[in-house]
Amino acid sequence: MIRHGRCLCGSVAFTARSRTRKAHECHCSQCRRWSGHVWAYVTLPWDALDFSGDADLRWYDHTPKARRGFCGTCGATLFWRQNGSAKVDVSAGAFDMPTGWTLGAPSFGGDKGDYYRL
Ligand SMILES: [Zn+2]
Ligand SMILES: [Zn+2]
Repeated sequence: MIRHGRCLCGSVAFTARSRTRKAHECHCSQCRRWSGHVWAYVTLPWDALDFSGDADLRWYDHTPKARRGFCGTCGATLFWRQNGSAKVDVSAGAFDMPTGWTLGAPSFGGDKGDYYRL
């Protein structure tokens, strides 16, 4: 199945070939600060993504082992990838709806913001 995703301004646009049915959410302090709240994502093979247009994709090396991808124009948070990994976590919110995904159990739920009510 082909799904379409993009950042807020559309500078980074991509299609993803995937049969995944699960989305995930991470409440760790890094994802919280990066996303502004909780980061919802799907895990896909990097090779399943095809970028189109003049993608202004930038990477932030936030640890020696992993980097986070974002749009250099609008700043939208898009990717988390371990260095050398064939997989990438992609912001679930970047995709057109309906996604058909269901959310799995939260990761690092103990780190969620104390303003979080669920
Ligand atoms: Zn953008
Ligand atoms: Zn996290």
